[in-house]
Amino acid sequence: RLEVQNLIRAFDGQRVVDRVVFAVEAGQVACLLGPSGCGKSTTLRLVAGVDRPDSGQIFVDGKPVCDGKLHIPPERRSVGLMFQDFALFPHLSVSENVAFGLKGGYSANRARVAELLERVRMSSHIDSYPHELSGGEQQRVALVRALAPQPRVLLMDEPFSGLDERLRDGIRDETLALLKEEGTAVLLVTHEPDEAMRMADQILLMRDGRIVQQGAPYNLYNAPADRQAAAFFSDIN
Ligand code: ATP
Ligand code: MG
Repeated sequence: RLEVQNLIRAFDGQRVVDRVVFAVEAGQVACLLGPSGCGKSTTLRLVAGVDRPDSGQIFVDGKPVCDGKLHIPPERRSVGLMFQDFALFPHLSVSENVAFGLKGGYSANRARVAELLERVRMSSHIDSYPHELSGGEQQRVALVRALAPQPRVLLMDEPFSGLDERLRDGIRDETLALLKEEGTAVLLVTHEPDEAMRMADQILLMRDGRIVQQGAPYNLYNAPADRQAAAFFSDIN
């Protein structure tokens, strides 16, 4: 479970994240949805611990990882990352990539790596290198690499944006199924309302650093908080 309380982050006196409050339950996907520059990636960086808020608290499974003075470093937060530009290591094979964050590396974790690759139908590529894989295949390996250490929270920043449109729906469904099985709390950033409608248990609609509306996709679609929110959902077919 991820909980965020009153998070504030300003650059040059300008609040980019402004009193943000939300919670994501284990096994649920929350989509942080909003236009370019509204503060989505900044919010993710604060949760990951690679940036510090000016104020506010962050809890993982009820344990504070950030508040006032406390700042638990990223590697001790049980928070996994999957960013679009967070590519696979080109000099490591698929199995070595997936085992990267695991104690003892691949030799100590063969069964777990094999099981994860099987789940995303990548078993036959276990010894391949990233350059030998398609974009969709790389995305699937990156997903299981992020899940391998069994993080309590997974942060995904536009994870599907580099993919061919024809592949995207299939990979979204597959990703969702795996996330549900693992029971991770997921915070997924997107600027595409379609993607949020499809993937989210909860949508956090963000504008100018604030969460302007949050709730089930169906509720936001049917009862947008204001005209801008309505306009945002209006292109969905
Ligand atoms: P996109 O959809 O384009 O990725 P975003 O919602 O992820 O947008 P952020 O990357 O969070 O947006 O940026 C929000 C605002 O904060 C932008 O105006 C950006 O220029 C500003 N910003 C982000 N990081 C910094 C920084 N380190 N220093 C100064 N300004 C920053
Ligand atoms: Mg961003």
